[in-house]
Parts: sequence; C-alpha cells; structure tokens
Amino acid sequence: MGELLSSARVRLFEAAKAAGISEKTLKPLSYPKETIAVSLPLRRDDGSLELIKAWRCRYDDHLGPTKGGIRFHPSVSADEVQSLAFWMTVKCALIDLPFGGGKGGAQIDFRGLSPQERERFTREFAAGFAHVIGPDRDIPAPDVGTGPTEMAWIADTYGKHRTGHTRHVVTGKPPVLGGLAGRANATGDGAFIVLKAMEEALGLAGTKRRIALQGFGSGGRRFARRAVEDGWTLVAVADSSGSVRSEKGLDLDALEKAKDQKGSVTELDGGETDESGAVLFTDCDLLVPAALGGQITAGNAERIKAGAVLEIANGPVSADADDILRERGIRIAPDVLANAGGVFVSWLEWVQGRTQIPFSDHDVDNRLKKRLEDRSKAVIEAAQEFDVDFRTAAYVLAAQRLAKAVSAQGAHLYGAQER
Ligand code: NAD
Repeated sequence: MGELLSSARVRLFEAAKAAGISEKTLKPLSYPKETIAVSLPLRRDDGSLELIKAWRCRYDDHLGPTKGGIRFHPSVSADEVQSLAFWMTVKCALIDLPFGGGKGGAQIDFRGLSPQERERFTREFAAGFAHVIGPDRDIPAPDVGTGPTEMAWIADTYGKHRTGHTRHVVTGKPPVLGGLAGRANATGDGAFIVLKAMEEALGLAGTKRRIALQGFGSGGRRFARRAVEDGWTLVAVADSSGSVRSEKGLDLDALEKAKDQKGSVTELDGGETDESGAVLFTDCDLLVPAALGGQITAGNAERIKAGAVLEIANGPVSADADDILRERGIRIAPDVLANAGGVFVSWLEWVQGRTQIPFSDHDVDNRLKKRLEDRSKAVIEAAQEFDVDFRTAAYVLAAQRLAKAVSAQGAHLYGAQER
C-alpha cells in the first residue's frame, strides 16, 4: 500500500477508536475494494503515439455506488488515486450521501494538449473504463484538469458503449446536457458556507479576515469571489506559475482578467510576485489551499503564519503536519467537509438524471446551504463531545455511519459492534 493511502487511512482508524468503534467493524475499509490500472493510447496531432498510465479506484461501496472525480495531471499515481478514493468514502459518509467513494486519474500533462488531443484522450479514458463506471456502479465527476466538457465527452462515449443515453454516469456535465448550473460553483460555494458556519469555531471572528489562497482554479476562484463579496481581503493568491501578494488586498476582477487573458495571476498589474509555494507562508488570518495535496508537511508546518486553514484541496496537510499545526493552535476546517459542496450538488445532478425531474437553481442553492451548515454544526459538536480537533470529529461522524452500514450487513452477527 502506498504511503499516502496508509497515512490517510490511519486517521479513520484513530477516529473510530476515539469513538469506541472496534477495528473489526471497519476492517472492510482497510484496503480499496477495486483498483483498475490501464495504459491508454494517446494519438498526438503529429501522428505519434504515447502510452498514458491511468487508474480508477472504487474504495468502498457499503453506502451506495462509488462517486469521485477524474484527475488529469502529470503527478497522478495509483497511490494518489486510491487516497483520493478513500477521502471520497469518508466525505460521502460525513455528508450523509447514498454513495461510496471512488476516484480516477491519468498521469498526463492534459493542459498541454491540443483540443483534439484532449478529446481523443478523454474518449479513450471513458472507453478504457466503460466496464468499471456506470450510473448505478461508479459515477465520475470533474477534478483537477477536467471540467464540464470532459464530462460531456465521457457521457457521450459511455452512451455509445451502452447504446443508450445514460448521462447520469457522470456529474458536472454542461447544464444543456443534463448538468446543474450550480455544480461548477458548488465546491467554492460550499467552502464559503463551511467558512461562515465555522468562523467562530475556527477563531476567525474579530480578525482582519485576510486570506491567502493557493490555487486559482474552479474551487479556489469561486470561493475567493464569495469571500471578497462578504468583506474578506485576499492578501495573496498563487497558481502553478507563481504567487502575487498585496497587504492592501488584491483586486479580484483584475486577478480573474490576468488569469483568463494572460494565463496566470502573476500577470496582474501591481502586487508583489514570488514563487508559487511562498503563498503558504503569508501572514494572514486564513490560509486556503485549493490546489494539490501534500502542500503543508512536517518540513514546513512551523512556517505557517495563518491563524486557521480551510482545505478546499484534498489532502493538502500531511498527517504529521496536522499534529504540528494542532500543537501550534492553528485550527483546520478539513477537506472532507470544506470541499464537499461539489459532491453534494453532484448527488442532486445524479438524482435529476435518474428521475428526469429537474431541480431549480434556487432549490440547489438552498439544499447545499442547509446540508453543509448542518454538517458543519455536527462536526463542531462532535469535536466538543469527543474532545478532538475538527478533522478527527469529521472522521468520527463518517466512521459511525460506515460502521452502521457494515454492521447492518451482518457484521454484528460475528461479534463486531455498531454504535
Ligand atoms: P483546477 O484544475 O480547476 O485548479 C487547480 C488550480 O491549482 C489552478 O489554478 C492551478 O494553477 C493551481 N495549481 C496547481 N499546482 C499548483 C501549485 N504547485 N501551486 C499553486 N497553485 C497550483 O482544480 P480544482 O477543480 O479547483 O481542484 C483544486 C483542488 O480542489 C484539488 O485538490 C481537488 O481535488 C479539490 N476539489 C475539487 C473539487 C471540484 O469540484 N472541482 C471538489 C472537491 C475537491
């Protein structure tokens, strides 16, 4: 088992222990249920052929069909895909969705491809995993490197394999093809709802509300918009090309223009630029990692100056860094809660696809707000009840639901106890 997955898994078993759930009950969650590895052909525009490694992992399906995004990035590995699938399992359990956890990915510089190459590769990916995914089995969605267009290609390719329209095999589709308008913003909106629900618990009430944001993609960018509209100040922002900082606050419209028209936030006029990683050490009230995992480690956790962390990225803080931040009094709104808006609205999209009864934008917004406020409150209360940090509290709630599901399938008959 990879290092990333084993350290992710430890957190669930520690939380289960804190809540008095026996290791026996959660034993089925010790390893991924299924991980398929394939090599996919990528035919380049110049006629050359490359072979690309790709994976799909269905970590656990006790609570329902597996659900999780598809990541196209050069750093993707089997270990990363399995850890992300594990986190999806915890997240869906915590948010009370009828889904297990899955994830997929390909080790590819997808952004560096032409549009034709991107379409060819995405369709190869869908065909290569057509025997794994399915609207009642394993339902992908966007993650780093993928978005609505890739989901439309996957839905279309899968439909051809199954000779029918089963577009709810993926979520995060363009609205005209069965998606929900609110899905594109759901992760950022959800992170903002969690921030407001936990503002006091995170120790942010009464601060200057200065934010440093790492990652200016679909999640980070929408979150920034909501926070700035609420009066928070963006003092630093980074993307993969570098970071830009201003004590007075960065102009969000100008940042978006720099990103859209010139490709990076570092093209902003005004503001001091630096290398990407510098954003992590900004003097601020709230640090928001919204790029890749493994950013805050035991090697740099002492240099974090933020008062609190809101994790939009999956797994941005390593387990040993978690301990250091906790000892330093830096509170964390954990990924499995803070970025769960995406999978929540994906669930609504999937329900809409199955029933063919549409949700209105208003209904989607209201349901998202209510569910994430409820779950944030549950995490704050569990942290008090079990005297643990917010991440452990979120894992306790997930472990309790997973343990109930495992027990309901008869584990209690053989001596494993549910709680
Ligand atoms: P995205 O591809 O839209 O954006 C990623 C952003 O991160 C880009 O701005 C990129 O330039 C930046 N980035 C990449 N490497 C960087 C680095 N080393 N330093 C600074 N910035 C860097 O991706 P996204 O969908 O916004 O996902 C971001 C994170 O949020 C991921 O960890 C993902 O798993 C998580 N997440 C996304 C969703 C979703 O619905 N999109 C849902 C839950 C969690």
